[in-house]
Amino acid sequence: MTGLQPEAIAANLTGVRERIAEAARAAGRNPAQITLVAVGKTHGAEAIAAALAAGQKVFGENRVQEAEAKFPPLKAAHADLILHLIGPLQTNKVREAVALFDVIETLDRPKLAKALAKEMVKSGRRPDCLIQVNTGEEPQKAGVPPRQADDFIAFARGELDLPVTGLMCIPPADEEPALHFALLAETATRNGLAQLSMGMSADYETAIRLGATHVRVGSAIFGARQPR
Ligand SMILES: *Cc1c(COP(=O)(O)O)cnc(C)c1O
Repeated sequence: MTGLQPEAIAANLTGVRERIAEAARAAGRNPAQITLVAVGKTHGAEAIAAALAAGQKVFGENRVQEAEAKFPPLKAAHADLILHLIGPLQTNKVREAVALFDVIETLDRPKLAKALAKEMVKSGRRPDCLIQVNTGEEPQKAGVPPRQADDFIAFARGELDLPVTGLMCIPPADEEPALHFALLAETATRNGLAQLSMGMSADYETAIRLGATHVRVGSAIFGARQPR
């Protein structure tokens, strides 16, 4: 199986951007308030390069090692490339993650928060952090339980001085995502956090209606995921 041709990736990007703008206008929002995070996981560096050539600057990857294999040359060639980590982060990968990523969307436990704070002091790099909330309280899924979110936000921001800028969620696959997006938005408002990373290929328009500032879109841009 091979990935999409560069022209197809460029056309998909145009289509997704148009739908984002449309959804923003329908919600009475400025389309410029919404950042498209293009998720290229499982796709090769040539797919990312095609998106860059089509003007896309913000990317998401869910594995540190895969991102380390693909992104350093692309970042060297494109100083304005912004890379988000959107998958679980193990504490033994914190050093690599802080070095490579500009935004870490998956801060979800005290041990990781402490390790990130320590590494940020050591390295002098301070990638923005989003706190992942497990809105569906799914045992197999990462994220802070919704009832512990306020305390965890206060701990990460207050006690550890982490640069927490917002919240992120991945709703359960079999539930109406709008309820989860609304819960995430409420939690962010209550805690004075401006950024909301929510919505994927199947539901980013719903997420925009409910206040998403970042949508993470993979297959609608790059096609079906490739075998790793
Ligand atoms: C893969 C992934 C996405 C993108 O999913 P698509 O359905 O392909 O758009 C978004 N967010 C996270 C956390 C992911 O792992």
